[in-house]
Amino acid sequence: MSILDNRPALKAEIDRVAEVAGYLWQKGWAERNGGNITVNISEFADDEMRALPAIAGPFETGKKLPHLAGCWFYCKGTGKRMRDLARYPMANGSIIRISEDCAHYEIVADSAVAPTSELPSHLAVHDYLLAKGSPYRASLHTHPIELVALTHSRKWLQKDAATRMLWSMIPETKAFCPRGLGMVPYMLPSSVELADATISAIDEDYDVVMWEKHGVFAVDVDVMDAFDQVDVLNKAAQIYMAAKSMGFEPEGMSDAQMKEMSKAFNLPK
Ligand SMILES: [Zn+2]
Repeated sequence: MSILDNRPALKAEIDRVAEVAGYLWQKGWAERNGGNITVNISEFADDEMRALPAIAGPFETGKKLPHLAGCWFYCKGTGKRMRDLARYPMANGSIIRISEDCAHYEIVADSAVAPTSELPSHLAVHDYLLAKGSPYRASLHTHPIELVALTHSRKWLQKDAATRMLWSMIPETKAFCPRGLGMVPYMLPSSVELADATISAIDEDYDVVMWEKHGVFAVDVDVMDAFDQVDVLNKAAQIYMAAKSMGFEPEGMSDAQMKEMSKAFNLPK
């Protein structure tokens, strides 16, 4: 028995998580247990689900998150591998419910897989998104090789330096990652400081935030869209790298050409 039985909409959402987890592994972005996915699945919760008993918990969320009362999340499990989650999402992740006190969660299904150690930061981001009235329901953390490599150079850590270069490699990058790439300087993984800096960067109007020498954190309406934004950015980084390995500095689209794109496609930046 699975909570996904007879819930086709919820199952489709979890299937999307599994599909993306498979892509992360295939791209080489998810070594070992690297990366995290959490999805706010509250819209799929029905009365029968709400009546289900907890199978583990309550556990503390680490912070009071006032907008998450009664919310439901699918979370990758701590120590679990994306490549395993791709095949068995409910054995490598679990569905949790946030308690009415906004400070605890319970694991409800399918088995007592403890959520990612990054849960506090992911939940803080979801709380922020709900507070803002954002339609975004998915957050994704992964280690895209070429984008991480860029952050080993001071040049690309300057605000919007990487954004401009990546947008200029191929027009689609600006069209499909229209807010660009936020930059957060190196901070200890899983720290409160990193979570706070990530939320500030999202608040500055970025959907994808780069953690220096570590990886990206992306938010979007669903996990496939979050993945797509990271994918187009990393593709642009690969084009840059291909040009460099052909022995020249790529020219890039001009400012005028990029401005023309923004106007033609009504882009936010
Ligand atoms: Zn990481």
